[in-house]
Amino acid sequence: MSTLSLPEPVDVVVIGAGVVGLAVARALALAGREVWVLESECRIGSGISARNSEVIHAGIYYPQGSLKARLCLQGKQMLYAYCAQRGVAHRRCGKLLVATGLAQMAELQQVQARALANGVDDLQLLSAAEAIALEPALQCHGALHSPSTGIVDSHGLMLALQGDLENEGSQVALKTAVERVALSQTSRHQVWTQDGTCLAARAVVNAAGLSAPALARRFEGLTAHYVPQPFFAKGNYFSLAGKAPFQRLIYPLPEPGGLGVHLTLDLGGQAKFGPDVQWVSDATDYAVDPARGTAFYAEVRKYWPALPDGVLQADYCGIRPKISGPGEANADFCVQGPQTHGVPGLVNLFGIESPGLTSVLALAEMVKHMLQYK
Ligand SMILES: Cc1cc2nc3c(=O)[nH]c(=O)nc-3n(C[C@H](O)[C@H](O)[C@H](O)COP(=O)(O)OP(=O)(O)OC[C@H]3O[C@@H](n4cnc5c(N)ncnc54)[C@H](O)[C@@H]3O)c2cc1C
Repeated sequence: MSTLSLPEPVDVVVIGAGVVGLAVARALALAGREVWVLESECRIGSGISARNSEVIHAGIYYPQGSLKARLCLQGKQMLYAYCAQRGVAHRRCGKLLVATGLAQMAELQQVQARALANGVDDLQLLSAAEAIALEPALQCHGALHSPSTGIVDSHGLMLALQGDLENEGSQVALKTAVERVALSQTSRHQVWTQDGTCLAARAVVNAAGLSAPALARRFEGLTAHYVPQPFFAKGNYFSLAGKAPFQRLIYPLPEPGGLGVHLTLDLGGQAKFGPDVQWVSDATDYAVDPARGTAFYAEVRKYWPALPDGVLQADYCGIRPKISGPGEANADFCVQGPQTHGVPGLVNLFGIESPGLTSVLALAEMVKHMLQYK
């Protein structure tokens, strides 16, 4: 990497080779730009993108008019089409959002109304008997069926995105941590890496996930008040030993900070439960405390009472890159381009938590337009 001092600026440096950085770089490369993706780790997609539920969300919950609502719906359609076209493993398995108490039936109807306002018009409200006919192991008072929810091989997706951008002549540099950026009003930004190399770029996209706010604070030329305070909410998963008696994903109603301890399936049919919400200050601690399993049994048994004792095993966790703290309303995605902060050729992506994986192709198009690339 120390030989990476180029005399002429590259068109775009994207910081971070998670699913967001790779999708943005692909979109820009397909638009004819030369893109360098700089990634601090020794492989792509080892951050948040490797530690999530791999669910293609339908776009149900998000406030009307929010970026999350719009990009999730658009991104879902783009993602299904892309996976089919590029042979990325996925399955449109559907999900049931269940009312585990009678009082939650009204909430289900509110969720359905919100989904409809967001353009998600395929939800079906099911009676308990109808839901149990679909999933006999389920206990509930009623459910919403979302047929367009699915699952995707997130690593396969990232490899496909990397392949596309490399086919266009762009590239990913691993083990290349960006230390700081000196921004310029003449679109000749200087990107400094930890080994002291400087790379000139006409545009810079900060897709550094959990580190995006801390990194943006090291951007000379960006006013600090544009950088939100980061918060971290760990989501722990427990896997099920043995086979789950469910074909679809099963979700309780959302809880503050997350979507509730739900059951998701991977493409091999293996079930896991989670993620819960644990606010943390250290975004590098990926240990899962087995003691949290007790709460998981209680939550899961609300919709699967026959869950046997001793079958849940502490598995992995992911950390949500929050920009709203405990007790605050959940923030929207924060995508800041030149029109916001006044720096030509700079886009910062903050708070790209769920449904970021689902939204990613739509998000990439948005960044492309912000940079005024066709
Ligand atoms: C628990 C959990 C469950 C989720 N479930 C879902 C789901 O089911 N469906 C869904 O749609 N979304 C889900 N999401 C959201 C989704 O995973 C994220 O929106 C998405 O993965 C974010 O990708 P990213 O590229 O922004 O971040 P990352 O994947 O973290 O990528 C950022 C990259 O930047 C690199 N980096 C950081 N600093 C630097 C630097 N200084 N220099 C160079 N590189 C740097 C990091 O190493 C990393 O590789 C979930 C998230 C969590 C936490």
